[in-house]
Amino acid sequence: SVPAAILSALSAAARGGVLFKGGAALETLARVESFAFDKTGTLTTGRQEVVEIACDGDRDAFLTRLAGLEAHSEHPIADAIRRAAEARGLQPFPVREARAVPGEGMVGVDDEGMIWAGNARLAARMGARSTPAEPSASVSALHRGAETLVLLGRGARLLGALTVADRPRDSAGPGIAALRQSGVRRIAMLTGDRRAVADRIGAGLGIGPDEIRADLLPEDKVRIVAELAAQGRVAFVGDGVNDAAALARADVGIAMGAAGSEVALQAADVALLSEDIGRLALAHRLSRRTARIIR
Ligand code: ADP
Ligand code: MG
Repeated sequence: SVPAAILSALSAAARGGVLFKGGAALETLARVESFAFDKTGTLTTGRQEVVEIACDGDRDAFLTRLAGLEAHSEHPIADAIRRAAEARGLQPFPVREARAVPGEGMVGVDDEGMIWAGNARLAARMGARSTPAEPSASVSALHRGAETLVLLGRGARLLGALTVADRPRDSAGPGIAALRQSGVRRIAMLTGDRRAVADRIGAGLGIGPDEIRADLLPEDKVRIVAELAAQGRVAFVGDGVNDAAALARADVGIAMGAAGSEVALQAADVALLSEDIGRLALAHRLSRRTARIIR
């Protein structure tokens, strides 16, 4: 019977680590033509490492201040910075009233006043130039790299910067290839990260240059998912709080279940409990087979 085919597909998918919240999502997935992926924590491991530091004065003092602010963030970048401080035996400096600026970074207050950490967009919002006269040479050098740049500042004054890098999941490239093979026509990557990082990661995964969208705010991800949805059904795969709106907007929202945020899981129709991106192709094939049976 009809429900039996769906039930058996749902349970087969669940055994493969793909948990559907209901049969409707399975039926919609069968008609999905494009997949849009978040980058950090979805196509990449989300485990960032600090690569390089450039600052005016003492590095330890710089890291102590930055780690104090990042102690209040759940972002993978914050985790890398806390680990880097810990590895040098540094205690994060106390920061209060810390809050996240979505898609940009963190702001808070320490003993010397307001302090912020994040990308060039946040620097611009604070009236700081991300490439000021001081510490010019070193920060400019970091700017040229294809890594994520974290700037630390106090008001319009830049205190320093560091870069963090992340690597694609082993399953990301093969998983994307498997989705294409299973009939998905468009694969896009949507990220809040900057262009150089997005291009390096996306190209390595076989995502077309026009499908790599960088420097996005959470609402930009929603807008692009809506654009894709105008041309056929779209699935969005993401892990972060910043992905919740796009997950809700997509025809099928898929949250990374193992390491993803609670908010993303709630907004999604499907939880990917495995870290293996290839399981998405498995679910896609299962949904198509089921659709043929019940039609
Ligand atoms: P994504 O998960 O696609 O990288 P986010 O919206 O989470 O997108 O972040 C976008 C950008 O905002 C990051 O690449 C980083 O530059 C900056 N950012 C976000 N949170 C932090 C943080 N806690 N510390 C420093 N930078 C941050
Ligand atoms: Mg993410």
